[in-house]
Amino acid sequence: MSADRAEAVAGAVARRELDALLVSDLVNVRWLSGFSGSSGAAVVGAGTDGARAFVTDFRYRTQIAVELDPTWRATIVSDPLAGAAEAVGGLVAARGTDRLRLGFDDVHLSVRAHTRLQELMPDTVELEPAGGLIEALRAVKDPEELAAIRAATELADEAFTQVVGRGLTGRTEQAVALDLEMTMRTLGAQGSSFPPIVAAGEHGALPHASPRDVAIPAGTLVVVDWGARLDGYASDCTRTLATGKIDDAAREVYALVLRAQEAALAAVRPGPTGKDVDAVARDLIAAAGHGDHFGHGLGHGVGLEVHEAPRLSKQGDEPLVTGNVVTVEPGIYLPDVVGVRIEDLVAVSADGHEVLTGLSKALTVVG
Ligand code: ZN
Ligand code: ZN
Repeated sequence: MSADRAEAVAGAVARRELDALLVSDLVNVRWLSGFSGSSGAAVVGAGTDGARAFVTDFRYRTQIAVELDPTWRATIVSDPLAGAAEAVGGLVAARGTDRLRLGFDDVHLSVRAHTRLQELMPDTVELEPAGGLIEALRAVKDPEELAAIRAATELADEAFTQVVGRGLTGRTEQAVALDLEMTMRTLGAQGSSFPPIVAAGEHGALPHASPRDVAIPAGTLVVVDWGARLDGYASDCTRTLATGKIDDAAREVYALVLRAQEAALAAVRPGPTGKDVDAVARDLIAAAGHGDHFGHGLGHGVGLEVHEAPRLSKQGDEPLVTGNVVTVEPGIYLPDVVGVRIEDLVAVSADGHEVLTGLSKALTVVG
């Protein structure tokens, strides 16, 4: 698995006309090597010359023996950045080249670390920004990753079913959010993939509402957005529930969001860009007069991070491809009145898509 990913990176490095890539962001390091520790870096040479160096500190001596496959030349160092520079020095020497173009992750590397890197590197090494190179590869999930995301989604679905089964009315938003986190942990999750959102009534009109110490009343809509983390992978889902009878206006908004969600979902397949799919939901909501009330993108990729490539939004210029895992989550937010969001997690497949979320989207009334 890790060997395949390193090979894919080596190919991408060559296509960018770089000689090697320094991978320092820990999520990228994990995806590339399988290493799940908190300190480490990797250097991957371009093309097929096979240079694969990994550095970490002494705390992870045992862990790398388990997590890294033998194609990595691993070294224990006191300072991973200095260790990585040394590995690059070795690469320069081995190639007998007088000049080496080294890509680095300019999206994640701090200015301070970049300055240090320049000081540590041999003079013949040119540092080239290569942010997004690994992220673009991470956007396409392999079967092992899909299985992990599917398992996280199933666990999150089950936790939601249990928590909602205990009722919402009269419990505080914070109590329900905590119950979700505890239940996911009890079911075997490493934790939440992000702090759950539980937002009743007008509070649901804030797309990123923090749960309040306020009891959920009867007869209102409640937005619940949560996800589990399992084997490093995240899930993400939103459901909007009713606590008893709601007024016609809220019911209409719910029906519209559901229609937009299902229309956008039907457009998810290899080919269209994130922008195309976003437009399906956005046009439908705008035509119903709520264009101004849907202020965020339609969705985002999910994997080792809960927000990653590709984007389903006005900025989503990349076509969807088989292996992408994305959310489809339109919402309508009426300030000081009510909010509705419905979010599924979806895998793009060769013949369309597979909805990973297993929960009903019909307006559900709970006690
Ligand atoms: Zn969400
Ligand atoms: Zn989301």
